[in-house]
Parts: sequence; structure tokens; C-alpha cells
Amino acid sequence: MAGSNETTNSFEMARQQLAIVADKLDLDPHVHQMLRYPKRELTVNFPVEMDDGSVKMFTGYRVHHNLTRGPAKGGIRYHPDTNIDEVRALAFWMTVKCAIVDIPFGGAKGGVICDPATLSRNELQNLTRRYTTEIAPLLGPDEDIPAPDMGTNGQVMAWIMDTYSMLKGHTVPAVVTGKPIAIGGSEGRVEATGRGVVTVAREALCSADAQIPGSSVAVQGFGNVGSVAAQLFQRAGARVVAVADVKGAIFNKRGLNIEAVQKYARENKTVVGFPESEPMPSDALLTMPVDILVPAALQNQITEKNAPEIKARFVIEGANGPTTPQADIILRENGITVVPDVIANAGGVTVSYFEWVQGLQSFFWSEHEVNEKLEHILVKAFTQVKHAAKQYQCDLRTAAYIVGVGRVAEATLARGIYP
Ligand code: NAD
Repeated sequence: MAGSNETTNSFEMARQQLAIVADKLDLDPHVHQMLRYPKRELTVNFPVEMDDGSVKMFTGYRVHHNLTRGPAKGGIRYHPDTNIDEVRALAFWMTVKCAIVDIPFGGAKGGVICDPATLSRNELQNLTRRYTTEIAPLLGPDEDIPAPDMGTNGQVMAWIMDTYSMLKGHTVPAVVTGKPIAIGGSEGRVEATGRGVVTVAREALCSADAQIPGSSVAVQGFGNVGSVAAQLFQRAGARVVAVADVKGAIFNKRGLNIEAVQKYARENKTVVGFPESEPMPSDALLTMPVDILVPAALQNQITEKNAPEIKARFVIEGANGPTTPQADIILRENGITVVPDVIANAGGVTVSYFEWVQGLQSFFWSEHEVNEKLEHILVKAFTQVKHAAKQYQCDLRTAAYIVGVGRVAEATLARGIYP
């Protein structure tokens, strides 16, 4: 593979994925061109007063990729390495993801270049309120509805909702999802992405005559997505043998007690040092001999460098963009089933949609109802993707894009080009 030109630019990667499906789908060239570009993007540079009285400048983004099927929907990421191309790619993936699970949203994403772990609660709140004010012209329940992503959580969503409501002069719960239940959040939203990962994994395994009970699992990333996925895999009868966070990885071949690891991670801000485990190099987690590998941290984790070493039978993408297009080819050649991000982690946006609907009608559902509806949507979407894979004789990622991009194309052609 030496001398390869593998890109680590996420937006370039997203465009490569789009080109593959445009070809397969014989996509209208105008629709293809349109989807190559975000509809609009806003960059904001803004000051935040820090606890020591100093003022620090921050840069943030909000990108609307495509709004053909409904208002803009997508998370907000707080991460030191985020950049406009990453946010564009994430917004593109949201367009495709919302269409695959057939919920009436377009794709968006936001980000602020910062390391939330180094900010105090007060600084984080100041930053969030100012960023919200800066991007407020784009926001609204019918316009653009943010949600959590890496580095943000329900508390950050609560500050966004409060700031937006103050600007409007009345309470607007439906402007964000993933907010606390006390202010109109949905039952089941916190767990939804991880729950979706396990639901879609179950369907994928079942299609290959395999099953979760008795399977071994390794999970990279122990945040909102990874820790819940690990917990639910274990509850479903799997043995979660390794987990990792940004500080390192831990291993126990008999299976980690995930609820105990979660408690340890809450108290110690890392999984590293968990008593009933051995430390292991983070990179080694990805190439462990397990049945199921769940990348649930960052993009570009499985590349053409380590893809030949991957031994898992199934890769279930909890994270967005963890596998490069070149790595995809290698995994496919090695007979590894990759369940792509746009369906594997779509549980989060699906329950965000439920939260938005509940907020708009001020009528709330039980956790059981939420989970039942989530199950229905994900199983239906996975079945459609599976059928597309059979019909077009392709891998699940291409099939998922065929379903998602196909729906966006149909909506675009129905609406026509304005004016
Ligand atoms: P989070 O901030 O809650 O957790 C991220 C986790 O990844 C943390 O445990 C962190 O320590 C770990 N991590 C960071 N860099 C790492 C590295 N280099 N190696 C190993 N671990 C590392 O974020 P999250 O909300 O769980 O999001 C994780 C991924 O899932 C992202 O790609 C995000 O876009 C995607 N996603 C999230 C949601 C959601 O609802 N939160 C929905 C869909 C997709």
C-alpha cells in the first residue's frame, strides 16, 4: 500500500462515497453536483470570558448540507481538532442518515474548536451561550435543530435551548434535542444511539446466521455511544472483552463488567486502571480477534494501514466516518461485514426526531413506546438496506447510500430547481 493517496480529509471521503453510489444508482448529474456541496455554512469567531478574567477567541461552525426533505438536523461537536471539512462531512452524513431511516429532516452539523475537558463549567456555559447566539439566525424548530455529538451533552443542549428561548422571549423546547427530560427531553434519547448500534448489529448478525449471545466484542470510545453500546451488548449476552477511551484501552478476556467500568469511568474520568482488567495499547484494540468491533470514537480509525490486520467478523460503526474508503475495500476483500455509520448509529437521530415530535405536540411518550418505535424504524431501514445490497450486488455502505441518496434525489426531483 506504500505510496497510496488515501485521504484523511473527511469531506473528501464523503464525496468519494457519494461518487461510488452516484455511479451505481445512475444518479441524476445535477443531484450529484448538488449533494457534493453544502447548501450553506456559517463560520463564527467569538470571544469568551474565562474564569481568570481573560478573554479568549473561539471559532465555531454550523453547516446545512441539504434541506430538501425537512429542517436541518445534526449534532454539535466540541473538539480541539474539529474543522470546517469535518463539519461538512458530518452534515453530509446526516442528510444521508435521515433519509435512510426516512425521517423528515435535512442534514446539518456544528462544531466549536475547543477542548471541553480543559474548560470549567462556567466557561463551557459562556462558550455555549455565545456560540448559540452567533448561530441563532440559522436555528429554530422549523429551521435547524441541533443535538449532542462528541464533547457535548444534555447540559449543553439545555443551555442552547435556554439561550435561544431568551432571544425569542418565550420557551422553545423543540429547538434542540438530546436535552434533559426536565425541559422536554425524550425518554430513551441518552441511550438511543448505543441502543441503535446493538439493534442494527443484531439484525446484521442474524442475516449472517450469527447471534449476539456468546459473541466477543471490542468497543473503541467509551462516551455516550460506546459505553451504552457496550452495556447493551453485554445485556444481550455478549462478552465485551475490551474498551478504550482517549486515555487508553483495557482488556479482560473473560469479559468486562461494563456497568462497573461505567461507574469507574464516571469517578476517574477514564476507563484506564479499572481493577478487573489489564491495560492494552489503544491501537491493538482495533485488531483484536473478536467477533464484533465497534469503533465509537472518531473518524479515520480504520485505514488502509490497519485494515489488513482487522480480525473481527463484523464492524459496526458507532462513530461517524471511522472507516476510510480504501479500508472499506480491504475489509470487504477479507470477508468482513461493515455495517456503516449512516445506519448503525442512526438510533440517535431517530429518537431526536421522536423528541422533536413530542415537543411540538407537547405530548410525551413512555420509554417503552420510544424504544418500540425505534426498533420498528431501524429494523425496517436495515431490511431495506439489505435488500438494496442484494439487488445491486454491493456492500452495506453502498446499499445504505443507495437507499438514502435515492430518497434525497427523489425529493429533489419532485420539488424541482427553484426558480
Ligand atoms: P463522547 O464525547 O460522548 O465520547 C467520545 C469517546 O471517545 C470518549 O470516551 C473519548 O475518550 C473517546 N475517544 C476520543 N478519542 C479517542 C481515541 N483517539 N481513541 C479512543 N477513544 C477516543 O462522544 P459520542 O457522543 O459518544 O460520539 C462518538 C462518535 O459517535 C462520534 O463519531 C459521533 O459523531 C458519533 N455519534 C454520536 C451520536 C450521539 O447521539 N451522541 C449519534 C450518532 C453518532
